[in-house]
Amino acid sequence: MSKTIGVLALQGGYQAHLKALDTCGYKTLAVREISDLRNLDGLVLPGGESTTQIKLMKRFGHWSVIDELVRSGCPTLATCAGLILAASHVTQPSQVSFGWLDMDVTRNGWGRQVHSGEGLADLESTRPHFGDDPLKLLFIRAPRIQRVGQRVDVLAMTNGEAVMVRQGALIAASFHPELTDDLRVHRLTFG
Ligand code: GLN
Repeated sequence: MSKTIGVLALQGGYQAHLKALDTCGYKTLAVREISDLRNLDGLVLPGGESTTQIKLMKRFGHWSVIDELVRSGCPTLATCAGLILAASHVTQPSQVSFGWLDMDVTRNGWGRQVHSGEGLADLESTRPHFGDDPLKLLFIRAPRIQRVGQRVDVLAMTNGEAVMVRQGALIAASFHPELTDDLRVHRLTFG
């Protein structure tokens, strides 16, 4: 039986994740009710506006249920705003987060540098996970990873900076794999 992967569908870019997961052959569920979080084999926290997502999750009660689910080891993919939610320390502006991943992140952290656009990951960073085919990156007002703790593995870099990390069963990316035709990040997360 194929796995069921839930995508948090309160705000942001959840549709593209549902489509990408469907293309990978998983069953999908757009998570709106608390009860949708039961019996999932995996969870996606999509991009969007992290401040709005936090407000909605706290107001409707998803916050503590999702926190428990991810801490219990449920395979989880957090992209862009999702990565901001997952980090232990968020600045610019500072904001609360789940703190699952030992890392510091600045929102909209690229200043005048390009923070939206396309590129490829440094090949040597992704080769151990994805082989010789370079990983496509697509950024939209991306957060910037400023520090990663010792327990965090860096899975992809661009220009020497971490853009995808893993700690336990949680993978977080500052880019949007769901908006490219490269679905290897979803497959790596959910198996
Ligand atoms: N800048 C957004 C935030 O701070 C994240 C952007 C995105 O998810 N594409 O929440």
